Amino acid sequence: MPVMEATKTKSEQLIALEDKYGAHNYHPLPVVLDRGEGVFVWDVEGKKYYDFLSAYSAVNQGHCHPKITNVFIEQAKKLALTSRAFYNSTLGEYEKFITNYFGYDKVLPMNSGAEAVETAIKMARKWGYEKKGVAENQAKIVVCAGNFHGRTVNIISFSTDNDSRQNFGPFNSGYITIPYNDTNALAEALKDETIVGFLVEPIQGEAGVMVPTEGYLKTCFELCKKHNVLFMADEIQTGLSRSGRLLACDWENVHADILILGKALSGGMYPVSAVLANDEVMMCIKPGQHGSTYGGNPIAAKVAVAALEVLRDEKLSERADYLGTILREELRKIKSPLVKEVRGKGLLNALEIHEHPDKQAWDLCLRLADKGLLAKPTHGNIIRFAPPLVITEEQIKDCARIITEVVEAF
Ligand SMILES: *Cc1c(COP(=O)(O)O)cnc(C)c1O
Repeated sequence: MPVMEATKTKSEQLIALEDKYGAHNYHPLPVVLDRGEGVFVWDVEGKKYYDFLSAYSAVNQGHCHPKITNVFIEQAKKLALTSRAFYNSTLGEYEKFITNYFGYDKVLPMNSGAEAVETAIKMARKWGYEKKGVAENQAKIVVCAGNFHGRTVNIISFSTDNDSRQNFGPFNSGYITIPYNDTNALAEALKDETIVGFLVEPIQGEAGVMVPTEGYLKTCFELCKKHNVLFMADEIQTGLSRSGRLLACDWENVHADILILGKALSGGMYPVSAVLANDEVMMCIKPGQHGSTYGGNPIAAKVAVAALEVLRDEKLSERADYLGTILREELRKIKSPLVKEVRGKGLLNALEIHEHPDKQAWDLCLRLADKGLLAKPTHGNIIRFAPPLVITEEQIKDCARIITEVVEAF
């Protein structure tokens, strides 16, 4: 080892490794995590942190939840992958479980969130041509400005974020973008009879936890019904108890025609995503028309059932609702001219700070990390606060105290 290396901390050495050998497609906070349990993670130096990101809400059930971990290990030792060329002993049970859990006829299993969104888009188009009677290659999907649905070329074709798109073209057509939280814009757009679906996040997570006006989802859903258009809910980040309900759409009693799930569907254990719909839509897809080698694999099937059981057994929706209210109440007491707004639903929250030339959310996050709380800025001046839902009332108050002290001192 060169002499210089020896003076570096373990964290610095590991960051240098990633920097040298990994693509630079992320800009992480300079913290190197080594272990996790519940709401806590530890770095390689042994420093303990509250995790206030939860891997973008993939770890709603807490890090390395014992029940999910055990199911994962047991199935990994027994049978991990068969592909869908054959049936396996776990998939049917999972399909029955998840369709009952959310109230749909059928599920189509995939792995990543982006794949599930792509699946939903393909389903909507197929339905549009085969059931709604849209002319060949004319189907369109309405999306919202500020959306985040993943990173594939097709999905970024309808992103409105410059970084996500620049120099990745040419892009796909077939999308109409309207403003978020604008039912008039949707009503106007739906006059086009070639529209097959409306793809929406019930709360825009990546955009900075943008919570729409109460009634927005319900009105959008009714407009979709009126125009024979599929309401497609991307609940990859908002779903699975995060917002204080099982699904964020549940806040307005909206039952989406196409429900897209990912992230916490495995409790952070494994890439597991799913698209749910009723037969009228799902049965438009026939053998050979869509799939994924790992989609619906035995580990994913077992892990997803366990992850969903944990949400229910530990009443994580109720917990997120209750603790989220406390967190926002506490954060709204912060005395600092820096704070612009505290907003959120359940344990999906954001602190927006005023634009300031040398006081940025990034630096605030570095100070929070110093004090043992990990959060990540989004869009420069917004910090998302989304701890694992297994956090306790005492812990959430402790975290509110840390955030308050750091922001007031900043
Ligand atoms: C994270 C996310 C995705 C993409 O999921 P990946 O697993 O990263 O592909 C899609 N939609 C929303 C709302 C998300 O938060």
